[in-house]
Amino acid sequence: MATASTGSGPPSSPTPLRQAINAVAEACRVANAVQKNLEQVRRIAKDDRSPVTVADFAVQAIIHHALALHDPDVAIIGEEHAEQLKQADQRAVLDAVVEAVQSYRETLSEDEVIAAIDACDHDASGDAYWTLDPVDGTKGFLRGQHYAIALARIENGRVTHGVMGCPNLSRQQTHPLDQPDVTGTIFAANLEGGGWMLPANEPDAEPDRVSITPENESQDRIRICESVEAAHSRQSDTERVLELMGIESDPVRLDSQTKYAVVARGQADAYLRMPTGRSYVEKIWDHAAGMLIAQEAGAMVTDITGTPLDFSRGTTLEANRGIVCAVPHLHGRIIEAIDKLGLAAGARSGGG
Ligand code: AMP
Ligand code: MG
Repeated sequence: MATASTGSGPPSSPTPLRQAINAVAEACRVANAVQKNLEQVRRIAKDDRSPVTVADFAVQAIIHHALALHDPDVAIIGEEHAEQLKQADQRAVLDAVVEAVQSYRETLSEDEVIAAIDACDHDASGDAYWTLDPVDGTKGFLRGQHYAIALARIENGRVTHGVMGCPNLSRQQTHPLDQPDVTGTIFAANLEGGGWMLPANEPDAEPDRVSITPENESQDRIRICESVEAAHSRQSDTERVLELMGIESDPVRLDSQTKYAVVARGQADAYLRMPTGRSYVEKIWDHAAGMLIAQEAGAMVTDITGTPLDFSRGTTLEANRGIVCAVPHLHGRIIEAIDKLGLAAGARSGGG
């Protein structure tokens, strides 16, 4: 079942991948500290969702600051905008964000923190940019479960670098998925260069190669994963697909792009994201890093019609619907089952 073997690893010089790994490692520490203090943050900000807001903004500031050290004009599309933070009634949240950032970047002033968050406002118009989901899987974050810090580089419509911090995911596949790990794992991949995983608290450690092995392909019991949130993925459709394919095991439910990572390392055979309606369009920051990590490990990633994900259309995957990420021998069978059940009918094509 284990699929990771030691590889030569990502280069240690400050290549874009190395810069991104270091930035995500620091962001994992910040987000983790906030997640461990959920109740305290909630009390201060008098709002149940405030911890994820604080983590979102703090991570975005940390990542921008870290990447801007190498390129002051770095282009980042972040999911969050600082407008909300500047409202008078958000003072307590802003203070918590600044405190979280300063615990790792002491010298950054409040204005610099706000400027770093604001600077992640790129509009996907250029040839090359980063896309960041500072806390992907916000519901998981608030439940004390899985979430991911997902950073990816897109060049000319192709995802070239993907880094994903999974602060609660163990590097050991034997560790139960429903029990948060103390160390966490960072996954990193380069287009056509392979993928690795590293301990989140030790990003300079010797990385393990992440890939899907032939043993994994041939095993009998098929393991599927999907979203915990029924509002994000139609779980009854996943059930119908599995039933048609004669797969009896229940899907494992996980928040965030961690689902791509567990497929990449052979811990699951597929990740299905079945659309809940026609109107939702997937966002690039919810898939860019995860897709590259899974593909570089040998998985196939498409939408539910079997169409490759198209990252050339700005901030959304408007030409796609839903996600099927699977080991190669299963991918075609899943697409066929979805088609037979008529679940792909009405799926977008060509962005229409
Ligand atoms: P997950 O952790 O897999 O449930 O996915 C979390 C992501 O789902 C969030 O980052 C949202 O951007 C995204 N999301 C929100 N609404 C929907 C929806 N209706 N369908 C699919 N994804 C959604
Ligand atoms: Mg997200």
